[in-house]
Amino acid sequence: SKAAGRNTWRFFSPEMQQRVLAHAALAQDIRVGLQRGEFLLHYQLQMSAADLVIGAEALLRWQHPERGGISPGEFIPVAEDTGLILPLGQWVLESACQELARWGQDSRSSHLTLAVNISVMQFRQPDFAERVEAALKQHGADPARLKLEITESLLLDDDEMEDTISKMTRLQAQGVSFSLDDFGTGYSSLAYLKKLPLDQLKIDQSFVRDLLTDPQDCDIARTIISLAQSMKLSVIAEGVELPEQKQRLADFGCMAYQGYLFGRPMPVEELLPLLEAPRVR
Ligand code: C2E
Ligand code: CA
Ligand code: CA
Ligand code: CA
Repeated sequence: SKAAGRNTWRFFSPEMQQRVLAHAALAQDIRVGLQRGEFLLHYQLQMSAADLVIGAEALLRWQHPERGGISPGEFIPVAEDTGLILPLGQWVLESACQELARWGQDSRSSHLTLAVNISVMQFRQPDFAERVEAALKQHGADPARLKLEITESLLLDDDEMEDTISKMTRLQAQGVSFSLDDFGTGYSSLAYLKKLPLDQLKIDQSFVRDLLTDPQDCDIARTIISLAQSMKLSVIAEGVELPEQKQRLADFGCMAYQGYLFGRPMPVEELLPLLEAPRVR
């Protein structure tokens, strides 16, 4: 009825309308930005317990011509809502493989692994495994140096399990490894977790942040680390900002670390010279 229609519009407030328009404008800007080469990758170090650099995570950055840097927290959700995460994710995958191939040629970096974030929608593409293989091959990157970070939301759907496992197994057979990102924030059951050919659990930074003051977060971090150990998986903590956080995690048996303590995400031109120094800190 007309009345209901009017009511509907009343709920659709000016602020909401504004948001929808902003959302659409941002989506259009992502399309254009991809064509104009406004996206780039930054890299954040991943460290061993002995403070050696063992790898890096590629993190997407957008240099918008008018608005300057826009954070992934703002544009990735829009890209996911609009399907633009597919071309964007493909760009990330190809750029990361290109960088990884360069690293392979440089004695400073040839031992490093490069971790790449994969969104659920991207992983769900029927030809996802083929796309990864093609990107590796195209640039001549070593599959054993590529790590794909997936999230627990992939594991929500029971029917999807078989497909997920088969894609992972196929890539793993070539040396590609898998890390479960943001672990502890999702819904994965241990039964699912056991079935997945994973290599690593990544402790979400929300548990690391208050590790030293919140006994519950501390328990969760310790539990994740011992879970990883009992499943024969490696474990990395993200968001490590303080030496005391690193120490506490090390006491629990954590083997890898990432966070501002060791470095912010940075352009590759800044990262490679750091590798020449014996210590990063
Ligand atoms: P994430 O994968 O969990 O990445 C970790 C985020 O924590 C990054 O934010 C990183 O800059 C930030 N970070 C690292 N160390 C610290 C620390 O010590 N303290 C604090 N407070 N933060 C730290 P960023 O770069 O803004 O990325 C945010 C999210 O956007 C990522 O979370 C990831 O979900 C998504 N993202 C980034 N790049 C990509 C990409 O290439 N593809 C996809 N699908 N998602 C991406
Ligand atoms: Ca990640
Ligand atoms: Ca994460
Ligand atoms: Ca996170």
